[in-house]
Order: sequence, then C-alpha cells, then structure tokens
Amino acid sequence: MLLTLTTTHRPATDLGYLLHKNPSRLHRIEVAFGEAFVVYPEANEERCTAALIVDVDTVGLVRKRDGMTLEQYVNDRPYAASSFLSVAMVKAFGTALAGRSKDRPELVNVPLPLELRLTGVPCRGGEVILRQLFEPLGYEVEARQLPLDPQFPQWGGSRYFDVTLRATKTVHDALSHIYVLVPVLDSAKHYWVGDDEVEKLLRHGEGWLAAHPHRSAIARRYLKNKKQLVREAVERLTLQDEEEEDEKQEQKTEEEAVIEKKVGLNEQRMQRVHETLKQHKAESVVDLGCGEGRLLRDLMKDRSFSRLAGMDVSTRALEIAREKLHVDNLPSRIAERLKLMQGSLTYRDKRLNEYDAATAVEVIEHLDEPRLAAFERVILGETRPRLLIVTTPNVEYNVRFESLPSGKMRHRDHRFEWTRAEFRAWAERIASTYGYTFEWQPVGPVDEEVGPPTQMGVFVRGAR
Ligand code: SAH
Repeated sequence: MLLTLTTTHRPATDLGYLLHKNPSRLHRIEVAFGEAFVVYPEANEERCTAALIVDVDTVGLVRKRDGMTLEQYVNDRPYAASSFLSVAMVKAFGTALAGRSKDRPELVNVPLPLELRLTGVPCRGGEVILRQLFEPLGYEVEARQLPLDPQFPQWGGSRYFDVTLRATKTVHDALSHIYVLVPVLDSAKHYWVGDDEVEKLLRHGEGWLAAHPHRSAIARRYLKNKKQLVREAVERLTLQDEEEEDEKQEQKTEEEAVIEKKVGLNEQRMQRVHETLKQHKAESVVDLGCGEGRLLRDLMKDRSFSRLAGMDVSTRALEIAREKLHVDNLPSRIAERLKLMQGSLTYRDKRLNEYDAATAVEVIEHLDEPRLAAFERVILGETRPRLLIVTTPNVEYNVRFESLPSGKMRHRDHRFEWTRAEFRAWAERIASTYGYTFEWQPVGPVDEEVGPPTQMGVFVRGAR
C-alpha cells in the first residue's frame, strides 16, 4: 500500500515540517496490523515527495482471530489502499491531520500545489465513483485501471486503480480527503463500525464534507450502511451545510450572477431544441454527441416521444449520462424507451436509422474539418433523418461575455466558432447537397449588434 504526496511549493522541503517528518530520515511506525514507513524519495528546493508505505502483516492479522480460512490469508489487504491506510495516516501524520504544525504554523492554512498518488485503490463502482468523490473537491483526477491479470489481458480490467490527484490544497485538507474517501471507495472495512465512527467522519470531513454533492452517499459507505449512524451523520452534515451556506451567501450571490448566465443559456438551448422537436412532431429522437445527457433528461419527461437515444464517442460521458438519467433504477417500461450507445458520428451506423429526428447540440464545433465533412455525409447523406437540429455558438456574441478574454473561444476543445454568416453558408451548402430545407433560428437573448449567443439550424428532409 503506497501513498505519495508531492509538492512543488518553494522551498518544497517545507513539506517535511508540515508532515512532522524529517525528510532526511526513514521513519518506522508500528500499527496494529503490521508496520508503516515514511520516506522521502526526493527532497529538494523545487520538489519534495513523501511516501507512506504500509506493510500489512496478513498472517499476524489472522492469528489474532479464531479460526482460519484460506480467504483470510489470500486477500487483497496487503496491497489495496483501504481503511488500513487511513489508520496508518493517523499514526504517521496525526499532527498534520489535526491541522497543526510546530515549525511552520503559518503554512498550515496555505493551499500548496500538490500531487497525490495512490496505488491499488479498489474502486467499488469504478472510475465514475472515483471522479464523483474527488472532482467536486477540485482535484484533477487521473486513473489507470489495473488489469485483472497482466498475463491474460483478455480478462479485462480489475476493480483496482492507480490514482493520481492534482490540486492546490492545504496539506491538511488533502490528507483529510484521502483519510475519508479511500475507505469509502473500498467496500471492505476491517474494523467494527461503532458510534465514534460518526465523530471521526465529521471531524475529518470538517470544512468540506457538508458541502460535498455526494455527502449522503459518502456517509452511507463510510459507515457501512449502519442506518442509525448514517441518519445521524447526514442530519449533522445537513445542519453544518446550512450554517456554512449562510456564511457564504453573500459571496455566492455574486458568483451566481456569473454562473446563472451560463446555466440560463444552457437551459434555453435545451428548451428551444425540445420545442422545435415538438413543432415538427418528432416521435423518436437520437441525440448525437449527447454528452452527459442534458437534453435527454428533458425529453425523457415528455411522453410524446416514444423512443429516445443518445450517442457519444466518450464512454465516460455515457457513464455519467447513465447515472444522471438513473437508467439503472428506472422501471423497465420507461428504461426501454431510452438507449445510450457508444459510437462516432463520423461512421455510418445502422442503429441511427431507427429515429425520425436527430439533434446535435453544441457538437459540430468539436469536429475538425475532415470529421465535420464525414458527419455531413453520414448523417444527412446516409442516415437521412426526417428532421435534424444543430446548435453551435455564434462567435460574434463572444464580446458580450465579460469573463471571456477577447479572441478566446468558449471551450478549450472547440475547433472553430462561427459567425452567423459562416454557419448559414455551411448549412445552406449541406442542405442543398443532400436535399434538405434549412431554417436559421436564434437561441438566447438577441443582441442588436452581435445577434444571439447560440445559433440553431433546423434541417427538414425534402425530395432528393
Ligand atoms: N450535447 C451535449 C454535449 C456537447 S459537448 C450538451 O449540449 O450538453 C460535445 C460532445 O460531442 C461531447 O460529449 C463529445 O464526446 C461528443 N463528440 C465529439 N466528437 C464526436 C464524434 N465524432 N462522435 C460522437 N460524439 C462526439
């Protein structure tokens, strides 16, 4: 079991003071289930890494109990990052976890650039859950799934991941996140869950857990579903959150003004596409490049669509869509109406033929030129839905986004952003090539000078 913590703060060796472990020494720590070590594979001005190695004595563990089974000897405990790691962290980094530092008190509350690596993290629920836990806390998450057996790659992946987390955080916060979330990811917990576990959870979750979007799920998994304890933890977290909420209110109103603008536009986009589908009496719809399923979520609520589908190249986006649309919990009658499929819009795909309308909301600008040409051919030339709705940014409007530096596109992945005239020219050309009519429509508030923030093209199949 290995956890490393790296900083590039200057001088990086301050990490040693924050962890209360001198970088020039090897520290051996005794724990009930074996031993742990803290060492620094690198420690200089620019970069310093502390490694916590936990060596679980499985044989010793079993001998402490009565009876022995093979499973007790042959299990993942020595290698998997588990609650053993959290216990070792308390022993090795107790002072840092408590938010204190004797020699660098002024640094305790200073966010530092950090990189944390964990090997062999068992992720119940897979990478999606891993991301749901760490991304809301501001981490950039990198996960590499380990194979079930390196000798038999065809067996596929295991539930273990090597995980790298990057963020600018206080050392205290980062350690607390790991302390709570590693056991949450793991399904086994080696110790008895007693009342004081609620206290531990709340203590280590202070300042972040109450506001975490998945706080109830975290409490449930951390407390191993012990109903009474989970209820208590969730109630207390809710209360804490309300208090923190009040404090942050003022600051939040300001931020919201900025965000609301965006959220508002996104909703308007989905609404306009939804309305247009209805105007044209679409019965079945496939959302091309459905992403996390925002449009599908709206359409699912509308009984006038008998069948819906979402297609995307990104399996990760589809996994999120699955979760957000609660696909796994829907009654089968409703779930049957919806299909999520992985595929590319640049290859002919027979599954798309089954829908009379198609939508591509904020997708074409992600396609480079050859892919855009393939998209035109595949969708309008070969699939030929009766109705196609395309939305894309109107680049002229960018000057109205105060937070957007001039000349910048709205999204890092955009290959282009078009003016109204450019979009029209493209749309008219493909409409006439493939025998469609085209109508241009604005989405969002129309500015007299620069037009609307989003533009929409409605293509209706005519005679060829
Ligand atoms: N329509 C969604 C997502 C827009 S982002 C929304 O409005 O919320 C663009 C999406 O297009 C991404 O999810 C991306 O994975 C997908 N995409 C990009 N290239 C694609 C391709 N060749 N085939 C299918 N999907 C693609």
